[in-house]
Amino acid sequence: MADKNDTIFGQIIRGEMPADKVYEDDDVLAFKDINPAAPVHILVIPKKYIVNLFDADEEDTELLGKLLQAARKVAIEQGLEDDGFRLVVNNGAGVGQTVHHIHLHILGGRSFAWPPG
Ligand code: AMP
Repeated sequence: MADKNDTIFGQIIRGEMPADKVYEDDDVLAFKDINPAAPVHILVIPKKYIVNLFDADEEDTELLGKLLQAARKVAIEQGLEDDGFRLVVNNGAGVGQTVHHIHLHILGGRSFAWPPG
């Protein structure tokens, strides 16, 4: 996979595009979704360019864990601990992935149906 990331999230990581950031460390960035589908809708992304889970290999195992830990921290900071939150990762255009840089959707602040639509 090419190193250059020309997606909108690559632009946010490089500071070329503004974002409402809520968490950042050396490896991970989290920011508010521009078109929220819930009262809390935050995206958690690795700074490394990975298209989706199909593009993540063994060497990305620790990074994938860091994404989950960041999601946990953000969810707590957003006050979602009591009511819970949903974590969504769309892997592939066929299931709705529109930005091809892996991201976790943190969704909370309302009720959710199961199974998801
Ligand atoms: P997905 O459909 O799973 O690929 O999710 C992509 C998400 O990125 C959507 O929920 C969009 O609303 C969101 N999004 C697209 N552009 C931006 C942006 N510039 N800043 C924040 N969120 C964005």
